[in-house]
Amino acid sequence: MKNFQWTEPQTVEQALAWLAKTNGKAVLMAGGTDLFTEIKEGVVAPDLVIDLKSIPGMAAIQGDKDGVRVGALTTVASLAADALIKRDFPGLSQAAESLATPQLRNVGTVGGNLCQRPRCWYYREEQMVCRKKGGSQCFASKGRNKYHAIFGGGICHIVFPSDLAPMLIALDARVTISSPRGDKELPLAEFYALPAKNVRRENVLAQDELIREVKIPLAEKGTRSAYIKLKERETWDFALVSAAVRGTVSGGSLGDSAIVLGGVAPIPWRLKKTEAALKGKKLNEALIKEALRADLQEAQPLEENGYKVPLAEAAVLRALLSLTRTQ
Ligand SMILES: Cc1cc2nc3c(=O)[nH]c(=O)nc-3n(C[C@H](O)[C@H](O)[C@H](O)COP(=O)(O)OP(=O)(O)OC[C@H]3O[C@@H](n4cnc5c(N)ncnc54)[C@H](O)[C@@H]3O)c2cc1C
Repeated sequence: MKNFQWTEPQTVEQALAWLAKTNGKAVLMAGGTDLFTEIKEGVVAPDLVIDLKSIPGMAAIQGDKDGVRVGALTTVASLAADALIKRDFPGLSQAAESLATPQLRNVGTVGGNLCQRPRCWYYREEQMVCRKKGGSQCFASKGRNKYHAIFGGGICHIVFPSDLAPMLIALDARVTISSPRGDKELPLAEFYALPAKNVRRENVLAQDELIREVKIPLAEKGTRSAYIKLKERETWDFALVSAAVRGTVSGGSLGDSAIVLGGVAPIPWRLKKTEAALKGKKLNEALIKEALRADLQEAQPLEENGYKVPLAEAAVLRALLSLTRTQ
């Protein structure tokens, strides 16, 4: 492991100044649960680690008349346990609770979760210079691809592994991004970018920017949400496929909804055709399966991951039907 310098800025502005000074040779650290794996594996070799944890006021969950603001340094455990989140956005609580292990949830943060790097075993192997590391090929496309993308891959077949991102997108969350130019807000859905846009990164964050907080808008009265995560082990595991759903239900009929899959694409994958087909309908198993067909037939599984298509159907089915039960 290459030696690196360490700094603990006391303000966002100081952190940004360090980022600007180091010309791409610095990395931000929050909980470090993902970053330090990357450093130890030799995938990232920074000159400087900027530890954000000493910055006060970035780990709070605050409700106001517009919704809820979640600081980027909020731990996943605090998010899972927060009473306001449990009451208004139960799907987000479920997503946070489903993540990794209690130890990782206690240390890992919301900002780190949204900016974590892919788990693709070719990307994580120091010797493999894949597209993501400046190489000319995606080794997963013809190699071992059990855990890879069935949608949106193209030149790189990673899946974005976050549990919080699909649920926050389903909840129409926005991220506040700080840079030397000031703060700006972006819908989280527009924060992520497919490999065709920039194969080296999974999001549009510039080298001199960081996430300050996440804003979840007040939900319309009667809105429900749920998160179903299908994985190989009960704990300490990423999603094979997950489904994050949000919707209003009245008399068993679905109003406006958002359905976002995790674990299937390089970015959280929204199923807009399914949402449109289900609007105003009384939910049942046959109807949901029929509605899903238009989106799922666009899947392009690789040699070893065709199983993700029926898994996606099962995850959405379970998540949507759970909305019809009283929450
Ligand atoms: C064994 C194991 C199991 C895991 N299981 C899951 C799982 O089931 N689901 C899941 O979603 N994740 C999982 N993770 C991934 C990860 O640990 C968590 O997502 C965690 O929330 C990351 O947060 P962190 O604060 O530790 O991030 P860090 O490791 O500190 O940072 C991760 C990345 O985000 C960047 N970053 C951090 N904060 C900011 C910010 N505010 N602005 C801009 N960039 C920032 C860092 O530069 C780095 O590139 C797992 C990790 C491990 C090691």
